[in-house]
Amino acid sequence: MAAGKLKKLAVIGGGPKGVAIAIKAHALNKVTSRRLQVEIFERDEIGSHWRGAVGYTDGEQELCTPAFRDLGFPYTPEKRVPAKVQDYCHAELSWSAFKVADGTYRDWINHGCPRPTHGDFADYLQWAAVKARCKITQTDVTGLEPKGSKWTLFAGAGRSRISLGDFDGVVVTGPGPPRNARATPHPQIFDGRDFWSRTDEVRAALKNALPDDEIVIAGAGGTAAAIIAWLARAGYKSHPIIVVSVQPTLFTRGESFFEEDLFSNEAAWAALSPASRKLFSERLTRGVVWRAVMPQISKMSLTFVDRRMHAIDDSGAGRRGQVSLIAQDHLGARTPFPGAIVINALGFDSWWFLKLLPTTAFPFGVSETAQESLKQGMNRHLAFESGWTLPPLHAPFLAEKIGPGFGSLLALGDMSNRVVASYI
Ligand SMILES: Cc1cc2nc3c(=O)[nH]c(=O)nc-3n(C[C@H](O)[C@H](O)[C@H](O)COP(=O)(O)OP(=O)(O)OC[C@H]3O[C@@H](n4cnc5c(N)ncnc54)[C@H](O)[C@@H]3O)c2cc1C
Repeated sequence: MAAGKLKKLAVIGGGPKGVAIAIKAHALNKVTSRRLQVEIFERDEIGSHWRGAVGYTDGEQELCTPAFRDLGFPYTPEKRVPAKVQDYCHAELSWSAFKVADGTYRDWINHGCPRPTHGDFADYLQWAAVKARCKITQTDVTGLEPKGSKWTLFAGAGRSRISLGDFDGVVVTGPGPPRNARATPHPQIFDGRDFWSRTDEVRAALKNALPDDEIVIAGAGGTAAAIIAWLARAGYKSHPIIVVSVQPTLFTRGESFFEEDLFSNEAAWAALSPASRKLFSERLTRGVVWRAVMPQISKMSLTFVDRRMHAIDDSGAGRRGQVSLIAQDHLGARTPFPGAIVINALGFDSWWFLKLLPTTAFPFGVSETAQESLKQGMNRHLAFESGWTLPPLHAPFLAEKIGPGFGSLLALGDMSNRVVASYI
């Protein structure tokens, strides 16, 4: 390859997706003549969303997916990312290689290959990033500006805004902030991110409550389930839990071969009609709870209320200063549901990255219809294409049209193949 043609790719976020892409580029550079430079920009530390220090988890919960679905899974070659790259990743950077390196492989096998905790998973990400000598810059990316066919990344704001360099493409990762996140915390109101870093406040609020005071939760997906499982483990079984959601119950997801296979079987996925793809994604990736957490949840007293969260009333007007979730039914009627604590577990804003783009990019914002059409117009490299006039921006977690596993940990190896293949 001629000098000066080296492509540079920026990844915002040092979670599993960022590390999977960076180690794939490392393997390519190591075992082929192809060259790609990847730089991870991470505001905290590698795997921070999995350690428990900044929310999203307490770090002690078990991963729902088995550890074998690691950074390179399923190790399938791609036209431009040959088998020897996959072999290198498997031999050097897989979960098994990590367990061998830290001396716990035999133990892990003899215990029946238990699922790692989120904290253990973060250790694996950190180990792989160090072993593959990933280039990591610790900073909060605050802006992306197009410069010809490239992006310039920025950190800081106003007069202290600085350029982080120019890149041929950018990958955005991470679930984003909670939907309807509060600007200021309230001692009885929590969300799917801050619940985990504020469990002392949860305990304090429940200590001040009567034993049978309600806990009110908005949402009936994986975030709500993880929180209910924590409440069970922490001993709050006497509190009735009101789950306000537009789905009638907690739907569970098993791990049958046929379901699992479709997450990383690209040919089978490509053969499906758009309607079947939508059905699969809605059935298996949205508002579903992994079977592993159900035994804990089943011990709790749950009442499902078929309504949509409208707002949270924090005026303390309820009995004994309770806060209330205001829920709206399908006819628009609103009812307050008071509780000792209220938890917004409605999920996260996966379009969070729009706030990084210049206002001129979408002067009138991006409506839900426009979001859907941008998702439908994504190319096979998980980048926006149809209706997109900016430099390449990859958003794997919005790429369910291309493959159902790209939003999660189910096919990190296929996801990274597709992203890096667009630069080599
Ligand atoms: C606690 C938790 C458990 C989950 N468990 C499973 C599971 O078992 N199986 C499964 O398939 N899926 C699971 N998911 C869902 C999904 O797989 C993940 O949300 C997603 O794949 C996480 O990978 P990621 O690399 O995109 O993001 P993350 O791991 O969330 O990493 C994003 C990183 O980006 C950084 N960041 C964000 N904004 C900026 C910025 N502006 N500048 C710099 N850095 C920034 C953050 O600090 C963070 O470290 C889980 C999600 C969470 C949050």
